[in-house]
Amino acid sequence: MKPSIYSLTRDELIDWAVEHGEKKFRATQIWDWLYRKRVQSFEEMTNISKEFIAVLNENFCVNPLKQRIVQESADGTVKYLFELPDGMLIETVLMRQHYGLSVCVTTQVGCNIGCTFCASGLIKKQRDLNNGEITAQIMLVQKYFDERGLDERVSHVVVMGIGEPFDNYTNVLKFLRTINDDHGLAIGARHITVSTSGLAHKIKEFANEGVQVNLAVSLHAPNNDLRSSIMKINRAFPIEKLFDAIHYYIETTNRRVTFEYIMLNGVNDGVEQAKELAALLKDIKKLSYVNLIPYNPVSEHDQYSRSPKENVMAFYDTLKKNGINCVVRQEHGTDIDAACGQLRSNTMKKDKAKRAEVKA
Ligand code: SAH
Ligand code: SF4
Repeated sequence: MKPSIYSLTRDELIDWAVEHGEKKFRATQIWDWLYRKRVQSFEEMTNISKEFIAVLNENFCVNPLKQRIVQESADGTVKYLFELPDGMLIETVLMRQHYGLSVCVTTQVGCNIGCTFCASGLIKKQRDLNNGEITAQIMLVQKYFDERGLDERVSHVVVMGIGEPFDNYTNVLKFLRTINDDHGLAIGARHITVSTSGLAHKIKEFANEGVQVNLAVSLHAPNNDLRSSIMKINRAFPIEKLFDAIHYYIETTNRRVTFEYIMLNGVNDGVEQAKELAALLKDIKKLSYVNLIPYNPVSEHDQYSRSPKENVMAFYDTLKKNGINCVVRQEHGTDIDAACGQLRSNTMKKDKAKRAEVKA
């Protein structure tokens, strides 16, 4: 299977072109065709010689993904199910925000972190995506708009699809550098957010990368007992270790950290927990931001339900009263398989049922 040309950073493509007897600027031209003109094949690169196009074709494919399903929601959210070259399925979501088009990308096939509320964690990780496969998701979403003659650009990216990005660190970093490159898609670092379940050592490493990308941490509980009961990763990286890394990140980068907090009815949504959360964030108040997230019900996790509005408001008010910046996250695509990993797990169930039918 040939790798995707999207898996090369610009510097890597320059080195590769030079190694194959071309001048440096040839790589810049190719990069321009890929990310500015967004062609789907090497043959469309009209200022590249036929001979070199043949060399490119021998070594690379352009986009390694196939589109399997597209679901459009009434609010403009579009959910894509893509097939990887080895037949595995991933999903990508496009959200229309008031500030532009935002894409949520997948970084792994399945997830080993296994949070008790999440559809993605239902399926153990089968493999990491390489950086080309992550970039390819953005390129196909952009193609969807280009083909419809819509003059809209993907302006924001959130790394919040299936998988734990910091468990696929090298590929995710390369992906971030590729989409941020001024000569390519040029998506501003401040328009990119990476979300982690809290791999403390990787948060420290990320602090030292010098990328200006936003960091979000999935906290979901203000103390170890509760957090360990809903996220087993907390046993490996308890709150003390996690916050040690977060403090390091803030001191090193002077950047704000977003905390994600899913509101689970009767589990973590009491005023008591809001007070505990405010105390936990007391020292980093100025550089933290809490996102209260409505829970997307997942049928396999029926022990959880969505917090009623009054709990959410009381929680929000308590945080505000304690000087914590927070917001209740707006929902997208509630009429389609909206929760992270749901379209994929539902399609896999249907495919399995179909195979059983055929057998019978
Ligand atoms: N693995 C990373 C990024 C992917 S999950 C992480 O956990 O941060 C992205 C976000 O979606 C996380 O905050 C996660 O907790 C949240 N999420 C997972 N399942 C959800 C559900 N059913 N409803 C609402 N949010 C969910
Ligand atoms: Fe993995 Fe994130 Fe889902 Fe947890 S919430 S299982 S880390 S994708």
